[in-house]
Amino acid sequence: MSSDAPQPQSGDQSAGNSRLLVLSGPSGSGKTTIVRKLLQDSPVSLRVCVSATTRPPRTGENNGDDYHFLSAEEFEQKRKAGEFLETAEVFSSGYWYGTLKSEIARAEEQGAWAFLEIDVEGALNVMQEYPEAVTIFISASSDDEYETRLRGRGTESEDVIQKRLATARRELALADRYKYQVVNDELDRAVEEIKHILRTEEAD
Ligand code: 5GP
Repeated sequence: MSSDAPQPQSGDQSAGNSRLLVLSGPSGSGKTTIVRKLLQDSPVSLRVCVSATTRPPRTGENNGDDYHFLSAEEFEQKRKAGEFLETAEVFSSGYWYGTLKSEIARAEEQGAWAFLEIDVEGALNVMQEYPEAVTIFISASSDDEYETRLRGRGTESEDVIQKRLATARRELALADRYKYQVVNDELDRAVEEIKHILRTEEAD
């Protein structure tokens, strides 16, 4: 690199030493339970990056803990100001989600891995910025399981279920873009596999 090549700007995390863990999995893959278990007993220091979203909070969700809940205008302002690493409209829901660069910077300051739990579209964008990111795709053990899990929740309307199943099919077709694919055939085994990946990557 020549000496007059553009130098990384402070706050430009794409040039930093951050360790990034990106985890995705379609609705019904059991991803949420896996993440909860992983965070209870992670072999490496993980800092969850709290995403921003324009979707309204659900009962029990807190601003700043679960998401940074923003109006569409606030989200757009941040997007224009370059504050996001990636953004995506998830599930064709009309709601936007995005990873804030400031969240990754905070993980880096703490010497922790930045942990992003984001959809496939967002993950593909992160891979471009951070080719060295550790990316894990979680899938269910059979195609039927997505629908069984989604219906089992009993919380979503038929329209939402159909949209999520269509998204799941599109996401599954992109699973091989991830560095690792973990099948959630048995919860504890899948969590152990992810822990093993993290230990191995940390040692690298
Ligand atoms: P929920 O609305 O159920 O909390 O999340 C819906 C989906 O949005 C999840 O599949 C999650 O992975 C994805 N998601 C959450 N935060 C982000 C983000 O910052 N960027 C992207 N691309 N997807 C996100």
